[in-house]
Amino acid sequence: MPKRVDLVADIEAQAAFLEECGAGFLIGVKPRRPAVPPPAASGSGPLRSERLRRALETPRSAPPASLPEFTYESFDKLVETIRGCTRCALGRLRTQAVPGEGSVTTELMFVGEGPGRDEDLQGRPFVGRAGQLLRKIIAAMGFREDEVYITNVVKCRPPENRPPHRDEAEACSPYLLQQIAYIRPKVIVTLGATPTSFFLPMYRSMTATRGHFGEFLGLPVMPTFHPSYLVRNEGNRELKRMVWGDMQKVMALLGRK
Ligand code: URA
Repeated sequence: MPKRVDLVADIEAQAAFLEECGAGFLIGVKPRRPAVPPPAASGSGPLRSERLRRALETPRSAPPASLPEFTYESFDKLVETIRGCTRCALGRLRTQAVPGEGSVTTELMFVGEGPGRDEDLQGRPFVGRAGQLLRKIIAAMGFREDEVYITNVVKCRPPENRPPHRDEAEACSPYLLQQIAYIRPKVIVTLGATPTSFFLPMYRSMTATRGHFGEFLGLPVMPTFHPSYLVRNEGNRELKRMVWGDMQKVMALLGRK
């Protein structure tokens, strides 16, 4: 039986996020500002989206036919290997690698693109502004942070926060696959275009893909907008509502709704 203080904290987190989404009407709070229409497609600044488009157009090698066996002695050993990795150029540019964090027995895994500046300095995923929003979303879904697993496609920071190159993502992909092989989540939530295109090779745009379950080696994958996209479009409640709608589908699949 959860403690009363935990329940109150959960309800407060959920209420705060719903209100931010403009969905406060669900709990009797009137929206403060009218919703603005969502900005175009996967836009996140012309420079970045152009680089992302080019990165996604590079041919990728075929995904594995099935989830590999977990081959490390333990999950800690895998984490240690990631921390010492220099398989690609990113490993020589980072301050520290960011393997991921959370529960390794969870049903729910979140996968982002790659560490940014704050994550590179702290060695933890999603600790900057986008990370704070992700953690609010997780709380609103009724999970504690240590009840889910949060990681990225690449474990080392790409310079200037550019999207990882295809070869960098491929060099790092055995680590992500091993994390999935060990954790065996019931659902993977992909945050933005980079992880979505990693798991769903038919990916074309976030606008077309988000909100619909895809499948990766038998595992349901729910693509949604990256929290940094929401942060960049802070006044746009419609985007937050869309993400919340996507997360409700995940909660329903997990029998949490
Ligand atoms: N953005 C990501 O994709 N991952 C992080 O860990 C932080 C920001």
